[in-house]
Amino acid sequence: MGYNALRLLKEGLTGNKGWQPVWRDPAPKDAYDIVIIGGGGHGLATAYYLAREHGLRNVAVLEKGYLGGGNVGRNTTIVRANYAMPGNSEFYSHSLKLWEGLERELNYNVMHSQRGLIDLFHSDDQRDAYVRGGNAMINQGDDAVLLDRDEVRDRLPYLDFDNARFPIHGALLHPRGGTARHDAVAWGYARAADRRGVDLIQQCEVTGIDVEGGKVQGVTTTRGVIRARKVAIVTAGRSGQVAAMAGLRLPVESHVLQAFVTEGLKPIIDHVVIFGMGHFYISQSDKGGLVFGGDLDGYASYAQRGNLPTAEHVMEAAMALMPVVGQARVLRSWGGIMDMTPDGSPIIDRTGIEGLYLDCGWCYGGFKATPASGFALAHLLATDRPHDTAARFRLDRFRDGVGLMDEEGTGAQHKLH
Ligand SMILES: Cc1cc2nc3c(=O)[nH]c(=O)nc-3n(C[C@H](O)[C@H](O)[C@H](O)COP(=O)(O)OP(=O)(O)OC[C@H]3O[C@@H](n4cnc5c(N)ncnc54)[C@H](O)[C@@H]3O)c2cc1C
Repeated sequence: MGYNALRLLKEGLTGNKGWQPVWRDPAPKDAYDIVIIGGGGHGLATAYYLAREHGLRNVAVLEKGYLGGGNVGRNTTIVRANYAMPGNSEFYSHSLKLWEGLERELNYNVMHSQRGLIDLFHSDDQRDAYVRGGNAMINQGDDAVLLDRDEVRDRLPYLDFDNARFPIHGALLHPRGGTARHDAVAWGYARAADRRGVDLIQQCEVTGIDVEGGKVQGVTTTRGVIRARKVAIVTAGRSGQVAAMAGLRLPVESHVLQAFVTEGLKPIIDHVVIFGMGHFYISQSDKGGLVFGGDLDGYASYAQRGNLPTAEHVMEAAMALMPVVGQARVLRSWGGIMDMTPDGSPIIDRTGIEGLYLDCGWCYGGFKATPASGFALAHLLATDRPHDTAARFRLDRFRDGVGLMDEEGTGAQHKLH
């Protein structure tokens, strides 16, 4: 079933009785060419691009819960291509281009909104770093505009420009940055993959990865054994646990990241605003809620909820930047599990086990990477060669130190990546 204005009108006038399920609910087959563990954004996008780009349809996505129940449905929805480091910048640039054609391609409204991302700076040194970052973005073919204090004030008059500790000096505007509806991205890719014959199997937890003679044979799941020539681990915050089923110890730590949303308000923020010095960022959803968050909770955990001191820290940063926010009531907060790598960049690679592949280490930036990650992993699975845009996301960089994306070990800092 295709979606279009005529269809909407017809269904609206006839009681919405004609809609069909958006994907099938197949029983797992005994064997597939490729099994993808994890029905988040990256796993579903991989399945879609395997079918679309490479004609591989004997593929299953195994999800232990429901599609979109992981981080893809828990993030704060920011989509941007403002990475400066070679290796990362071309990848995220490719991703943003894929985002820009995604709704038409999937025939699904993922509510991609390029409302502009405004990254504030508070000192001369910081401005210099932002100028360098902006130049790197422009060299990559993306967009960046330096705003002075008055230009920021024109756009964001409600900010506190004279905060004693963080007076606002200006900002770097990334006009093509913005947001997308997070779970709609999962649903859009799921529907498109299902239509191309991929089996999406929910409530199917992988409990073992079967390896014989250094070669993957398939997986053991709560719904039986499934054989496969190739298996990809695409389980984000659970990557370390799932890889351990094959005897691998990954250079990944799992940490909680929290997000918060207020009651619905009239439109006030029409950009994404980043206050890096305060570890804070905010945007407004189409429903009116202010959506915001901060830094990691700071300790390894698999709990999908966070601690109160971090919540307090985030609220303090909100008040320092934008005192008006104190009048809004926080409606909900939640957490997701981040797969953090030591150099803050992801892994899309083969493992030492034949037929076993890895897509992980997305830190807190994997939502925007969804299309390009799926595209690159599908390419790797189909051809056994890395895609050009993801050639540096190798696993062995952590063993020998060669090709580390961030050789100074500064970690997952957005400005530096
Ligand atoms: C609060 C928060 C804010 C964030 N904000 C942003 C943002 O603004 N912009 C951005 O780019 N990124 C952001 N991120 C990061 C982003 O959401 C993640 O990096 C990305 O979603 C991870 O990829 P995924 O969608 O495939 O993960 P997931 O959706 O977590 O998918 C992994 C799936 O694997 C499944 N799984 C795990 N173990 C098994 C098993 N044994 N068997 C079967 N299935 C299994 C899980 O159930 C899950 O559905 C944020 C994350 C959080 C939590």
